[in-house]
Amino acid sequence: MTKHERGSAELNLTALAGRPPHFPEDHAARIAREVFAREGTARLLYGERDQNFHIVVPDGQDILLKIVDGQEDPRVIDLQLSALRHVARMDASLPVPRLIQTRDGHDLAQVDGHTVYALSFLPGEMLEGTPAALPLLGEIGRVVARLGVAMRGFFHGAAGRRIAWDPRQAAALRPHTSLIADREMRAIVDKALDRFIMLEPRLQQLRSQVIHHDCHPGNLLVDHAEGKVTGLLDFGDMIHGPLLFDLAVPMAETQGVGLSPLETAARVLAGYSSVTPLEDAEYALLYDTIQARHAVTLAIHGWRSKHDPEAAAKLDAYCAINGPILAELTEIGPDRALAAFRAARLDTVETETLVKRRRAVMGKNLELSYAKPVHAVKGAGVFLWEPDGTRLLDVYNNVPSVGHAHPEVVEAVARQASQICSNTRYLHETVVAYAERITRTMPEGLDKCLFVNSGSEANDAAWRIAKAVTGNTGALIIANAYHGISDAIAALSPYSGPLAIPSPPHVEALEPPDIYRGRFREDHPDAAAAYAADADRAIAALAERGHRPAALMIDSAYTAHGILDVPKGWLAQVAEKVRAAGGIIIADEVQPGFGRMGEAFWGFAAQGILPDIVTMGKPMANGHPVGLAVTREDILTGFTGRVDFFSTFGGNPVSAAAALATLTVIERDELQRKARETGDFFRAGIRALKSRHRMIGDVRGSGLMTGVDIVADQGTRAPSAPEAKRITNALRELGVLVGIDGPYGNALKVRPPLPFAREHAEMALAAMDKAMSF
Ligand code: PMP
Repeated sequence: MTKHERGSAELNLTALAGRPPHFPEDHAARIAREVFAREGTARLLYGERDQNFHIVVPDGQDILLKIVDGQEDPRVIDLQLSALRHVARMDASLPVPRLIQTRDGHDLAQVDGHTVYALSFLPGEMLEGTPAALPLLGEIGRVVARLGVAMRGFFHGAAGRRIAWDPRQAAALRPHTSLIADREMRAIVDKALDRFIMLEPRLQQLRSQVIHHDCHPGNLLVDHAEGKVTGLLDFGDMIHGPLLFDLAVPMAETQGVGLSPLETAARVLAGYSSVTPLEDAEYALLYDTIQARHAVTLAIHGWRSKHDPEAAAKLDAYCAINGPILAELTEIGPDRALAAFRAARLDTVETETLVKRRRAVMGKNLELSYAKPVHAVKGAGVFLWEPDGTRLLDVYNNVPSVGHAHPEVVEAVARQASQICSNTRYLHETVVAYAERITRTMPEGLDKCLFVNSGSEANDAAWRIAKAVTGNTGALIIANAYHGISDAIAALSPYSGPLAIPSPPHVEALEPPDIYRGRFREDHPDAAAAYAADADRAIAALAERGHRPAALMIDSAYTAHGILDVPKGWLAQVAEKVRAAGGIIIADEVQPGFGRMGEAFWGFAAQGILPDIVTMGKPMANGHPVGLAVTREDILTGFTGRVDFFSTFGGNPVSAAAALATLTVIERDELQRKARETGDFFRAGIRALKSRHRMIGDVRGSGLMTGVDIVADQGTRAPSAPEAKRITNALRELGVLVGIDGPYGNALKVRPPLPFAREHAEMALAAMDKAMSF
């Protein structure tokens, strides 16, 4: 659309009619081979002025071959190439094309009288104005802003040219609006252009630089699944002008996502201003600049429809959105628009207000994660989004085990909720089907289900059962364990803080088998037996206080301990001692269950023990609150034969439907196997960071349950809670969520939803590398 025009007062619009060269595909493939050393096949792509070919290179990186319109000013080509070189130097991570050099190391070549050059071929789909683009709006704003930052120090004489797309040329464009067929629309366009012409003196006071100035959906490549912009293309409309113009283009043109034009624009703005906050003078001109962009588009399209109908037809669909939006924004007026735009800037203030309101009604001690609290309003797969469109990679939440808002779980819940939600005193197919399915994943004999609403309740029920069937009263746990919030289970959860459990006499804690920092370490010849001996001491200690053990309760992911790699055989030895003393084994699978540990579907199975009761919760229904205890016939009847145990909500059809859909997805999508493979890859990547980042002491875990022990010194292994906290906050700023756990508050808890794949691990590793380098 752009041509260099030297000084003419008249804007030469005939330059808008591009005349792309006519090279056939096989010729393009030959140029790719002979000039750029890329052996592949050529596919012609759309191009307004240049001829663009996708060169598909079977054994290497595809390229985009550009054969430039013969009439293009060489200085404008140089402007584009110089800008690309500059951006690559300033911010290599920006999703813009990179120049590919010729065989003899040049950026350009001449072929049959045409200039040719090649760019890296960026992946992704063209952004379209569909609701799927909604989560990308903030990201688009951010990418444009980052490109603006990268181009800040760039200059080139050709950027001073006059092009029709520059709204400062409104006066020159004004006579051509007569070509807009719709009279009403013509009047709106005239009004917008006239207003803008009046603003000329104020534009000169704005921050100005060379800008890309063409971020519209046809120039944006995106990855919807990842919620990422993968390409911002076409540097052909660059000018030197107000930075604000660069922002106004996507605010005007990324429409059709299902929000009002104002809301859509505000999301782009929020992303933009998270990188480059606007100045007051820019806010004041934003509305008019957006209007001018629409008006310029419509005026140019009107001109084209008459003078170059073929080219106009190709752009009809894009231009069709501009008219109605310009009309709607005209109706809204500058004042309301400005208020909405300023509100977008105030998103962080809104979050702060929400923090205050929350504290006022929920108390000040209910902890919020991260220095900058997460305000998630949407989730999909392994990603979360904040109100301003910020996307966060979730490497922390195990509850949405099959991914946030998994459509099959959502559908199952919605369907069942629209039919009936009753209780287990009535017959219902779904809860029975679930009990059949879940017990099939258990060892023989563990085939009776007791449905409740949470992990705490499942543990509470298990503890009551243990006392009832053994006749004993003592509990064995691991020091610093966490099993839940009920009064009885808080007594078994020293993790909850010293006041939560004044060391009740019926509870004894075993020494955690920590071979990294404990008494017996990785070089001990039999750490399993050495640590298991503590069970004898604990049982004796209980006996001294008049208790025999009713149960050992064990989380075999050792989450509250910073995710330990326990010595092989330790748990089996402990279990044997507990059983010999008359207790049963409760496997708390709230953390390790449902395939997370990769090696086995259940944590106890990975550790080679057979429990008497298995409890579960968190990941069981992908976020829907459910809990379950599975046990043997003799144990269940030993309890329910004496107690009328009934949980009102436990096992209701909606919860059962959510759990059933979740289990189906885990099994069908082989998430356990994937957790093992991705987890191994991820831990290997974190271990590889250890030599460069001295704060990594130890990397433990299995499947998608990883603990990274952060130390002050790799030699002494002294834990560093402040450093762990700093890293998690830095990661959060980089858009990656991980947590902290362990008795010293120094273990990174890295525990994403199960669809977390290799490419997500790579993203997380890159962010960890950065966060640890800060
Ligand atoms: N057991 C373990 C091992 C847990 O991690 C938790 C929760 N963090 C619970 C039990 C309690 O589950 P809920 O919060 O659903 O009551």
